[in-house]
Amino acid sequence: MTKIVEKQTWKNWAHTSVSTPEKIIYPSSIEEVCTIVKDAALHNKKIRVVGAGHSFTKIVQTNDWLLSLDLLSGIQELNEEEDTATILAGTRLYAIGEALGKKGYSQENLGDVNVQSIAGALSTGTHGTGLAFGNVSTQVIALKLVTASGEVLSLSEKNNPEYFKASLVSLGMLGIIVEVTVRIIKSPVYEYISDKISYEHLEKHLEALIHTNRHFEFYLFPFSDLVQVKTMNITDKSPQSLKGHYYKNLILENYLFYIISETCRIFPKTSSFFSKMSAKAIGKANITSHSYNLFATPRLVRFREVEYSIPLEHMKSVLREIRKQIETKRYNVHFPIECRTVKGDEIWLSPAYNRDSFYIAFHMYKGMPYEEYFYDMEQIMKKYEGRPHWGKMHKRSNRELRDLYPKFTDFQIIRNELDPKGIFLNDYLADLFSNTTENQVLNL
Ligand SMILES: Cc1cc2nc3c(=O)[nH]c(=O)nc-3n(C[C@H](O)[C@H](O)[C@H](O)COP(=O)(O)OP(=O)(O)OC[C@H]3O[C@@H](n4cnc5c(N)ncnc54)[C@H](O)[C@@H]3O)c2cc1C
Repeated sequence: MTKIVEKQTWKNWAHTSVSTPEKIIYPSSIEEVCTIVKDAALHNKKIRVVGAGHSFTKIVQTNDWLLSLDLLSGIQELNEEEDTATILAGTRLYAIGEALGKKGYSQENLGDVNVQSIAGALSTGTHGTGLAFGNVSTQVIALKLVTASGEVLSLSEKNNPEYFKASLVSLGMLGIIVEVTVRIIKSPVYEYISDKISYEHLEKHLEALIHTNRHFEFYLFPFSDLVQVKTMNITDKSPQSLKGHYYKNLILENYLFYIISETCRIFPKTSSFFSKMSAKAIGKANITSHSYNLFATPRLVRFREVEYSIPLEHMKSVLREIRKQIETKRYNVHFPIECRTVKGDEIWLSPAYNRDSFYIAFHMYKGMPYEEYFYDMEQIMKKYEGRPHWGKMHKRSNRELRDLYPKFTDFQIIRNELDPKGIFLNDYLADLFSNTTENQVLNL
């Protein structure tokens, strides 16, 4: 049965978006979702859906009705002949990992946390790393969407492919995703290696590192010539206990990093020292385990984040420019810069649309000024056709997004068809996706 909580303040993970919706509604069936949408139309209310609230922008924010699919959770069907799983849209990624893991399966790739709901992760184009793999939305082969009329649309590559490609990264604007079917793989055992190398070495071997490892990422440390590199490859070795790794990670990357971050917040000039020190302190780690134990790490230190995808061929030029800019401007930043690769896809609003991509993420500790650092980094990204991650902070306008996404207008047409009254829009999205170049909001 639907649960309703009235006038409760809602905050996202980063505390960058706060609102008090009239109601937070927790439907427990797809039929209840349809009824709620019809009710909202009758009462002239807008609806935003929330997953785990892990997006950094005001993408979810509403004072009307906020819908959470936390009660619409679980794996509906595991098809071992087709290697697919049909999952209710509110299911958290860690719960999918655990349930699939018990049956010897896993998702082929994930980002670095696993607390998001599957629909929330898809809706912003959440990605991991590895040039053979697209973002999480590319794992989806079919989905069910409750549209503004309260009907359920079944979409797939065969069944209405245009709507399907538009809906796979749609920021909750085309309707409420209630069920998804994803491709899964027989869960491999991975060897995870983390080490530090010099920036010079990284640059020289970057292409090889990207192409010869199944999953490869690296972290640039501001003001340091050392880089942390992480790889994950399939191995024949037996999985080992992860207790030591988990606690080391919890203590070093969370508790100790929290103390460092607080010191930098109170004494910002120490940031460069702590960044260099953190780079030097990286030790070698080598762990063998199943993927659901390795992709995600706990993230207890809160931060703000900007992340961009740029065409892969620009990666070295961008890296050089970022490093130079940080040396010149000497920002007070101690968080490392996370760099990953993602295979190009055909999803209309995917930042990796039609191009293999290099993703670069800039973080700033909560409570420290981020504006100048983020602004300058966005200017560099702009020069290299950078497309912002939809779940992260950015300053791109409607007009700029239109130029960056060849299918932007097609997406707007479908949005208008499916939701002519803008029931699923909030102010933030209306501003970014309005139909005119003047940013006027239509259909509200
Ligand atoms: C600590 C941290 C680590 C992160 N790591 C990564 C990473 O490694 N890679 C990466 O790419 N991103 C990463 N992100 C960003 C995050 O994955 C995305 O912002 C993701 O969308 C959040 O999922 P969520 O479930 O919290 O969705 P929310 O933030 O709650 O919602 C995101 C969007 O999805 C929509 N939505 C949610 N549910 C539905 C539904 N059922 N139907 C339709 N629309 C829906 C919402 O309306 C909203 O537009 C990270 C964020 C944090 C805070």
